[in-house]
Amino acid sequence: MELFNGTYLDHNATSPLKPAVRESMLELLGFPGNASSVHKAGREARRRIEGARQTIAKQLNCGPKDVIVFTSGATEANNMALRGAEMERVIVSAIEHPSVLQALPHPDILPVLPGGVIDLAALDKMLEGNTRQTLISVMLVNNETGVIQPVEEVVRIARKRGALVHTDAVQAFGRMPLDIQKLGVDMLTLSAHKIGGPQGMGCLVMANCATVGPILRGGNQEKNLRAGTENLAGIVGFATAAEQLDVKEFHKLGVLRDKLEAELKALAPSLRIFGFEAPRVHNTSMFALPGAPSETQLIALDLAGICVSNGSACSSGTVKPSHVLKAMGASDAEAGSSLRVSLGWNTHAKDVEFFIAKWTEMYNRIKSRLSAA
Ligand code: PMP
Repeated sequence: MELFNGTYLDHNATSPLKPAVRESMLELLGFPGNASSVHKAGREARRRIEGARQTIAKQLNCGPKDVIVFTSGATEANNMALRGAEMERVIVSAIEHPSVLQALPHPDILPVLPGGVIDLAALDKMLEGNTRQTLISVMLVNNETGVIQPVEEVVRIARKRGALVHTDAVQAFGRMPLDIQKLGVDMLTLSAHKIGGPQGMGCLVMANCATVGPILRGGNQEKNLRAGTENLAGIVGFATAAEQLDVKEFHKLGVLRDKLEAELKALAPSLRIFGFEAPRVHNTSMFALPGAPSETQLIALDLAGICVSNGSACSSGTVKPSHVLKAMGASDAEAGSSLRVSLGWNTHAKDVEFFIAKWTEMYNRIKSRLSAA
């Protein structure tokens, strides 16, 4: 039985496993080797893991001194970068993923401008006269809005003050050209499941042997930087997904995303598209329809078999407006009426057309109430 046969437009949450990834993982799931063992099976596991590491290094244009540490996902990699660096001062942008925002108790917060791009002038000011050992963490692409952040500029400012830079590139990998040497960062985080790889798999890349200590201690795997038997099938699946990335192909999704935005906006002129004026990756659209709660929209679409996200994190029964939209100056009401559509490798024109049709039906049902509101 097919586990899912709806319309999946939530690739920023997780992108379905690609068939080639599945094949590469299935081959290894029953394999007995532990990469730390010296016997033949162990050596084969090691060979596969080191091959995977090279594949990912090649995709990022890593240099010979760059170190890739496999982790259980981007959450762990982000925690490792921020906590393992043991810096006196850590600056994170206001729109980071919770795994960056909450990795340390009291980071300094770098604000963003209403368009969704970080405030570089504010960063410059925050670093004025700074003498403490400092790490700056700014994501390359925001997961909610798709807005691309000027990380190269962050590096330029940081270098003037001797600060290190980490970037969470989870939503950038495969969606825009990504070259760690050109970017100039000291550390970079990736996650496998945003590129059609397995969930629970990621890595931290450290450029030029940047020193970060382990946060998981135990065995001496991953050059003593991350204890625990390596996830062989996960690592190989991650590399297979990385090998298949095709940024040019991904850019074609922009035509579908732009059509979606144009049609929705024509229907509902009060629609606010977040980050519309900023450079964005081609698959993401985050918008608010004032007066129409996110849940109303989500439920109507879910009933039609469409998976999308809202801009709110629902925890312990309370709906908290998105910290990203709030940081961009959106009101609670605006943030509470937002929806995120994110396209990916298996999205076709018919999926976007279906979304537009169902959203239009929903809009026509509620529009009299919207104008009365
Ligand atoms: N950073 C960003 C920007 C993300 O979008 C996500 C996933 N939502 C993460 C980190 C966490 O990744 P993982 O699920 O691999 O822990």
